[in-house]
Amino acid sequence: MSSVAKRLQPFGTTIFSEMTALAVKHNAVNLAQGFPDFDGPDLAKNAAKEAIDAGHSQYARMFGVPKLNAAIAGAFSKRLANPADPDAHITITSGCTEALPATFLGLINPGDEVILFEPFYDSYRACVALAGAIPRFITLRPDSTGRFGFDEAELRGAFTDRTRAILVNTPHNPTGKVFTRAELELIASLCQKHNAIAITDEVYEHLTYEPTLPHISLASLPGMWERTVTLSSVGKSFSLTGWKIGWGIAPPNLTAGVRAAHQFLTFATATPLQFGAAAVIANPGPIVEQYRALFRRNRDVLAKALTDLGFKAFPSDGTYFIMADHSAVSARLGASDDRDLCQKMIERCGVAAIPPSVFYENREHGKPFVRFAYCKKAETIDLAVQRLATLAK
Ligand code: PMP
Ligand code: GLN
Repeated sequence: MSSVAKRLQPFGTTIFSEMTALAVKHNAVNLAQGFPDFDGPDLAKNAAKEAIDAGHSQYARMFGVPKLNAAIAGAFSKRLANPADPDAHITITSGCTEALPATFLGLINPGDEVILFEPFYDSYRACVALAGAIPRFITLRPDSTGRFGFDEAELRGAFTDRTRAILVNTPHNPTGKVFTRAELELIASLCQKHNAIAITDEVYEHLTYEPTLPHISLASLPGMWERTVTLSSVGKSFSLTGWKIGWGIAPPNLTAGVRAAHQFLTFATATPLQFGAAAVIANPGPIVEQYRALFRRNRDVLAKALTDLGFKAFPSDGTYFIMADHSAVSARLGASDDRDLCQKMIERCGVAAIPPSVFYENREHGKPFVRFAYCKKAETIDLAVQRLATLAK
């Protein structure tokens, strides 16, 4: 019998740990867990080293090193009608991964309903369980262009008097969807109608590739700042996933909830790394544009290779992931579902990917799909493409 608490038993070990361990064991190209295979900017690293040398090694202020709060307020305020206040509105957390449970535990009561879009980043479902909330799911499905979208009537129907929150992840992991202004306006109007809050996960905020589909923060829409907690982190934007520096931005009444939980989850996060993050957020230079150009190139190379092999690759307008339908390839390889396909790809050609059924409440819905990460050096993607080509035989 498992000794894990009942509320966490259903979730097992995350798919990211599982697939990376498998990739290491088989010496595979790891297009599974989403992390770059190149280092973050020297500016951030040098500022963190200087902070260590200057003796910044004790606890940081509970809600963040002032320099970092100020840098985030400066960057985020560009999107808002009113500027964000560094001390009143911003809480620094240990990655977006900590900001999520801090927000759930601090603002959601047991029995409250929370709307999630599926496929969902796996920690959302666990956060709902930790908070004792009741999840409602809206399934994103590909339309005729292959872009993932949702049914308006279904979303309207999911909101009830018991809805406390909706979680919106844009750009969206794992589909690569960037929510449109019209979609966000609908979500905003339903939040206001039902007096619900929005929690937005914007960790891929800088990684969009189509000029017609820019990233839009829900909090920037009329009437939404008052009811939105905006979450993000430095991991994806600056190739610093191991630093685990994230944040929540919200008006004071919602910030109070985030901090009420954060102070008991971690209290504060690594002080010198906050100085490093502040340096690069305050002065990002061309680095984000360089990453975007690399990822756009990788996305196009990988999408073409997947299509040539018989995958149906869906458009990835943001993030660093491509979702693809693997039905035709699996039929050829004799793979029974997404997990089986990922196992066979690692063993037969040395390329690891993620089976996305774990991102669905009804796992059947995710079985036709597979997710590939393209946040790698160009040569890593080229090597993966060479290896995948052996699947054609
Ligand atoms: N949200 C999404 C959608 C993600 O893909 C990830 C993966 N890193 C996270 C949150 C976690 O962010 P962090 O690394 O800052 O904890
Ligand atoms: N966000 C990354 C992904 O989706 C993984 C993060 C993690 O390993 N927890 O691949």
